[in-house]
Amino acid sequence: MIRNHRVIAAVVATGAIAAMLAGFGVIKSLVAAVACWLILRIGVLMLGGLARPVPAPPPTGEMRRVKLTYRCEICGTEVRMTAAPEQDPEPPRHCQEDMVMVTPVDDL
Ligand SMILES: [Zn+2]
Repeated sequence: MIRNHRVIAAVVATGAIAAMLAGFGVIKSLVAAVACWLILRIGVLMLGGLARPVPAPPPTGEMRRVKLTYRCEICGTEVRMTAAPEQDPEPPRHCQEDMVMVTPVDDL
């Protein structure tokens, strides 16, 4: 976060100096610098709010052994799931769609 503040401050200071050198006047340049700083800070905060750290995978002891087969209804790819955090896991995705479980009922 501190690094972001420095980058924003550097960008704002550079812009303010450039505006003053271009003849916009001190007050106009300072007002623009403050507005620029606010907009950049709010933007960085919003982007930071979107970033979620990936949760750590559970230890191997907590994984359930499963033997589930899924098929992609679009391209026909089949995959077998052998371990999952729960007994009835979410189906994996392929071709941007949820895969369909094709495990025979006897194997469940
Ligand atoms: Zn597919």
